[in-house]
Amino acid sequence: ASGYPLLRDPHHNKGLAFNEKERDAHFLRGLLPPVVVRQDLQIKKMMANMRQYQVPLQRYMAMMDLQERNERLFYKLLIENVEELLPIVYTPTVGEACQKYGSIFRQPQGLFISLKEKGRILEVLKNWPQKKIQVIVVTDGERILGLGDLGCQGMGIPVGKLSLYTALGGIRPSACLPVTIDVGTNNEQLLNDEFYIGLRRRRARGQEYAELLHEFMSAVKQNYGEKVLIQFEDFANHNAFDLLAKYGSTHLVFNDDIQGTASVVLAGLMAALNLVGGTLADHTFLFLGAGEAGTGIAELIALEISKQIGAPLEETRKKIWLVDSKGLIVKSRMDSLQHFKRPWAHEHEPVQTLLDAVKVIKPTVLIGSSGAGRTFTKEVVETMSSLNKKPVILALSNPTSQSECTAEEAYQWSEGRAIFASGSPFSPVEYNGNFYASGQANNAYIFPGFGLGLIISGAIRVHDDMLLAASETLAAQVSQENLDNGLIYPPFSNIRKISAEIAAKVAAKAYELGLATRLPQPENLVAYAESCMYSPNYRNYR
Ligand code: NAP
Ligand code: MN
Repeated sequence: ASGYPLLRDPHHNKGLAFNEKERDAHFLRGLLPPVVVRQDLQIKKMMANMRQYQVPLQRYMAMMDLQERNERLFYKLLIENVEELLPIVYTPTVGEACQKYGSIFRQPQGLFISLKEKGRILEVLKNWPQKKIQVIVVTDGERILGLGDLGCQGMGIPVGKLSLYTALGGIRPSACLPVTIDVGTNNEQLLNDEFYIGLRRRRARGQEYAELLHEFMSAVKQNYGEKVLIQFEDFANHNAFDLLAKYGSTHLVFNDDIQGTASVVLAGLMAALNLVGGTLADHTFLFLGAGEAGTGIAELIALEISKQIGAPLEETRKKIWLVDSKGLIVKSRMDSLQHFKRPWAHEHEPVQTLLDAVKVIKPTVLIGSSGAGRTFTKEVVETMSSLNKKPVILALSNPTSQSECTAEEAYQWSEGRAIFASGSPFSPVEYNGNFYASGQANNAYIFPGFGLGLIISGAIRVHDDMLLAASETLAAQVSQENLDNGLIYPPFSNIRKISAEIAAKVAAKAYELGLATRLPQPENLVAYAESCMYSPNYRNYR
């Protein structure tokens, strides 16, 4: 493009940064004011503008506008201000954006595939302007963060996740495809909302659902080949586990809620061992919430322990307990349990409440993954603190409103002894004259680098050993200084470097397991990963 269309093309537009030569060569004279500025100054101006907005949703909309106007500037801004902007383009603000998606909707982003497109999905994929796709993030909107069924308005999630794939993992934006599958919604409020953008019907289930998903999965493989990564995101657990199992052997699939969460939390626990002592096998874990996140994390912990001590999974699972909405998961409940909970039904008396479970199980590590806020009460945290010198407490539920407890509560109720991390970020808190910073168990530490590793090795399947490798790599990035400050995750400012390290280790596993197709294997995988990463700096147009 040149001239006016060039200024309207977000992939190539540079705004006031077009230099004199470019303005001549591309018919831009007069279409821009005389000044020529550098990208740095554009960043400075955008950040100043962003900070003027008091309401997070306004910042979100400003970011989306920028993405639609000047893609490179959007990514450079995000990369250089990642700690400040991550909570805007991702949790918690993206959650609010999804809730209000209908009324803030301006330009469509991503690909919408609804039941109306049944039988024509391949055709729909071909409507997307980019042909070389490497990563797809797909949702059906049924469990958006901890906010429940947001139907078609879940699109904010794949869009947000893919901007992190680019900003943090260096995947080219043109290689990313956000997809929302619309099979209806059971959210009454949305069904009655005149601005709702999705199909106005209740969710398709059973065969109708499975057929649409199958058509999608087949069309993706046919159109983009076997090496395209398909990340399932924010599906309800009654579909998520089945989809992962069904397509795990035929496609390169990854479920971030199950596997990504597991990997990032395991990394935090590995780092926390430096503070609390012992090995994973020495600890006892209790979860509130036995869904995708809870059982996914539990399974990866059990797998890591089983590798470390050479014991079978059936054995290593026994130090891990889960509570769901009906109480502690125990053997006597077996018949009525969903299949993904069954491995966790250990021999024990029934226990109804979390507090009672903490008292009888005596965990050293308490993990909240229920999506229900305010469930780590004062009594729960105090009991954890009476049982442990340094109780490890992870409040993973998102967004902030759903957090099991706040950072302030965790430190206050534990008298400053808790090793605390959360799903949504908390500012440092003061307790007894000391400042306590807490880490964020953000999946964004893992999935961008993980995906990059799969792509640079040409991996055709995801393997659990890759998740373990990613966890170890992330844990190793936590410095003594971070630990001294109570942080079990490294700062986000270093994330591109961390992603390259993770990518290298994931790729190395892919080669080791014979799952890589990009041959020969590059000698220095870290350097290779870095060399593959997208840079948002402007390019000169001749
Ligand atoms: P999910 O599959 O729907 O699982 C939720 C689980 O919590 C279910 O086992 C449910 O019990 C249980 N539960 C719900 N309310 C409860 C209550 N009041 N008391 C006890 N148990 C309760 O959801 P998910 O995918 O695991 O996600 C859960 C939460 O984790 C979400 O808020 C999500 O945002 C967060 N998350 C955080 C991270 C992170 O920090 N990096 C990553 C992923 C997810 P039943 O089975 O009995 O219904
Ligand atoms: Mn998710």
